[in-house]
Amino acid sequence: MIKIGIPRALLYYQYYPMWKTFFDELGAEVVVSPPTTQAMLSAGSSRVVADTCLPVKVFMGHVLTLVEKCDYIFIPAIRSMKSKIYNCSKFLGLPDITKAVIPESPPILDIDIDVNKGKHELYQAIYKLGRRFAWNPLRVRQAAIAAWQAYLSYRQLMSSHSLTPPQAIERISGTPEAEPKTDFSQPTSRQATIALIGHPYLLYDDHINHRLIHRLEQANNRVLTPEMLTEEELESATARLVGRAYWTYEEEVVGAGEHYLGSSADGVIGIITFGCGPDSLMMDTVQRQAARLRATPFMSLT
Ligand code: SF4
Repeated sequence: MIKIGIPRALLYYQYYPMWKTFFDELGAEVVVSPPTTQAMLSAGSSRVVADTCLPVKVFMGHVLTLVEKCDYIFIPAIRSMKSKIYNCSKFLGLPDITKAVIPESPPILDIDIDVNKGKHELYQAIYKLGRRFAWNPLRVRQAAIAAWQAYLSYRQLMSSHSLTPPQAIERISGTPEAEPKTDFSQPTSRQATIALIGHPYLLYDDHINHRLIHRLEQANNRVLTPEMLTEEELESATARLVGRAYWTYEEEVVGAGEHYLGSSADGVIGIITFGCGPDSLMMDTVQRQAARLRATPFMSLT
């Protein structure tokens, strides 16, 4: 059976159930890299220039752990997921950067996703990826439909049950992925409700964030994250604060920030990393809004 490697980094937390379903349906086996370690970060950092953002360094570390373990590595180039809203340039160039800095990598499956090019181009890109595993276009189509359903169910599971992506993935796959969730059934023991905002690859990578969620929960705080909101809530909050989003994943920072600043959260923490241009602008927008509203304490951690 063909083995497809998926790095547990960057867009993994958004799309893993969708990607896994697609490859499972086409008869391939999916191999995921282990959780981030300092050795993986160091190995990834050694392959890229120093001012590359931290999550991309981590991503390269994950690719390196998969080199001997799979036949292909799946690295999509996601340019745009919504009309005229664009992704950070690192995502656009990810397959090419990986090929350049990790020449020993197995062949990279590098589908281009850009909804601005229209549905026909999108379907062609999906078929081009799928036909490596199945020549019958109907089988690829069925795999794509199943994958999209898996994505919608995953989103719904997180927002309706207030789960983080690792908790939702664990529930779907039955494989332990997240630290045990604190039991909040005893409200008297709770200290505060803290909302975290930021990209999933920062909030759920315990090595990058120094187990922040676990530490907050251990101190009896209830933790809220962007994935616990519906897409509509995120979109309307983003529109309230900045009008129209420019960056593809702006809702995770600006939308979630605006929503939680106006909700019953006792405080909001924004997580950003070294070397990120888009986040420095987005987090500043949230920080200014917090200062304007003077209702909910806000801090950003880099
Ligand atoms: S948004 Fe920032 S952290 Fe994420 S890949 Fe782009 S530069 Fe890196």
